[in-house]
Amino acid sequence: MKRTFAVLLIFAFVLLAEKSLLAQNAPQGANSATSSNDAITARAKKIHFSSLVLDTHIDVTPKLQSSWKFDERHNTGHIDLPRMKDGGLNGLFFSIYMSGTVTGPKAVNDAVQRIAAVHKLSEDMPDKVMLCRTAADVRLAHRQGKIAALMGMEGGHMINNSLPVLRMYAELGVRYLTLTHSVNTDWADSSGDQPKHNGLTDFGKDVVRELNKLGVMVDISHVSDKTFWDALEVSKAPMIASHSSCRAISGHPRNMTDEMIKALAAKGGVIQINYLDSFIDPDLFAYSQKTQAAQRELRQKYQNEPRETAFPKIREELAAQFGAPPKASWERIVEHIDHAVKLVGVNHVGLGSDFDGGSMPVGMEDCTKLPLITDALLKKGYKESDIRKILGLNTIRLLADVEGVSKQLRQAK
Ligand SMILES: [Zn+2]
Repeated sequence: MKRTFAVLLIFAFVLLAEKSLLAQNAPQGANSATSSNDAITARAKKIHFSSLVLDTHIDVTPKLQSSWKFDERHNTGHIDLPRMKDGGLNGLFFSIYMSGTVTGPKAVNDAVQRIAAVHKLSEDMPDKVMLCRTAADVRLAHRQGKIAALMGMEGGHMINNSLPVLRMYAELGVRYLTLTHSVNTDWADSSGDQPKHNGLTDFGKDVVRELNKLGVMVDISHVSDKTFWDALEVSKAPMIASHSSCRAISGHPRNMTDEMIKALAAKGGVIQINYLDSFIDPDLFAYSQKTQAAQRELRQKYQNEPRETAFPKIREELAAQFGAPPKASWERIVEHIDHAVKLVGVNHVGLGSDFDGGSMPVGMEDCTKLPLITDALLKKGYKESDIRKILGLNTIRLLADVEGVSKQLRQAK
């Protein structure tokens, strides 16, 4: 029994790849926006702060279920309402997340509570936050100067193998379902697990068809390559990669190959670039590969300690053995955006930061730094209208397209 627990614990650690052990960022000061944002041109600021900036994956949701306050400025984490204002971030998909090892009725129960926390947020501050279900809702929220709050469910395990449960999530406002998190579900293979189903099972294909009918986006971040290709074949609606970057730059299996990005875009989909340092930086990814076996051993060694004390010790011992991990720069984010745009054009790329879901690169310590991206794209020669697409309009278009397919499918039956 004890051994089983230990194995489970190691497994859980491996799953938490996004809650990175190699985290480098220190807590952020309240005025972190000022220093680097000072160098941003007036034109970039004007474009950025007049754009609808929409992020498709933020892991702040569990905090809403605690005494933490969304409308107060915090020194830790990556977002809150005051810092969203500073960074010009107008909308987000709150991630409905839990580990893929939580399944069955408990997963449904926990997911509903997390969804309820997002509903409550919009009810508690109706003048600041608007719960959005459609592209039109998001535009309305932006016009009214409110944060557009959407929900994306990060993992098919939460539907408890039930299409009626999925339907109810859609009813509650969930607007994408990531088919898997870091472990396989009973019907889809994950990029973080050993292949078991050769992609999607027949039921997995039914899930994709149901999502199309419901007008919920099929999210292929986290899934295995084969699951991606299966979903692409079945889906009648364009799909989203809610928080994934480019494997051509950094070989992490959570990133998409050029071939996958091209196929996603050819069917109207959008890749939302993930900012996590361990995903976007090839040197950091190489370091994590090189230290993988040692990390596993050290995690076992410190398995009885809480993460807060265990992780620093593990990092220290890894550094003693392999040297300090390389530092990733925020400019890598722009490199990934630019790579994807060069590959498939400007209509199929957006932002899916993974804020509060792991370690950010140096210079992108929190959402106050977002104007840097607009500034960098402008300096690269991007047109104003193209920057606005990347910042949010592509996601709005995708939402509207998926709504359109849903309408057609409902009428056809
Ligand atoms: Zn994720």
